[in-house]
Amino acid sequence: MSERIPLEKKILSENDRLAKEARDEFSNHSVVALNLVSSPGAGKTSLLERTLPALGNDIRIGLIAGDVQTENDATRLIKAGGGEMVWPVVTGGACHLDARMIMRVLKDVDLDRLDLLFIENVGNLVCPSSFDLGELMKVVLISTTEGDDKPLKYPAMFRRSGLMVVNKTDLLGTSDFSMQRVVGNARSINPDLEVIETSCRTGVGLDKWEDWLRGLLASGQ
Ligand code: MG
Ligand code: ZN
Repeated sequence: MSERIPLEKKILSENDRLAKEARDEFSNHSVVALNLVSSPGAGKTSLLERTLPALGNDIRIGLIAGDVQTENDATRLIKAGGGEMVWPVVTGGACHLDARMIMRVLKDVDLDRLDLLFIENVGNLVCPSSFDLGELMKVVLISTTEGDDKPLKYPAMFRRSGLMVVNKTDLLGTSDFSMQRVVGNARSINPDLEVIETSCRTGVGLDKWEDWLRGLLASGQ
């Protein structure tokens, strides 16, 4: 047991070194990179499927799609309009992406052809919070089918995110999930956290998400 902590520290400091390289790459090419994190099934891929056709005409979007075993999400994103700008990363069992995986993918990415890069992390609210990928910001998704106490259970993720997207609002009222409580819980941990409510199924709220992205791109560089 006593050897675990130094090893974890070593892994994380090596990760931070590589994340800095990735961050420098992004900023040298004026690419805004966002690290999308959530539990499995909250709707990361669905949100991106909706975002591509909405913004893809005037913003050059790339997507790194992390998955544990399959390329299913990457295939969905290619079909949704991502085309050749989708790069799958299969972690082969690992429950998070790390900066080494991102640096490896970036060898195949012409950052001059991108304005915005989404990194869809593995569905997991625990360790992705510790692994910096060089992103400008983490965006955490939570869906109304989850417990509204998730921010209290996984505080590090909500503390380190700049935006919380609450998805599946079309299902509000079918469970005990309270929008007021989830926002209160999240802001008790991170008072500056921005919040956007969406339903990828009905499309409600997606305009706010798209405006937020446009604003970030306009101000970010
Ligand atoms: Mg997905
Ligand atoms: Zn992990």
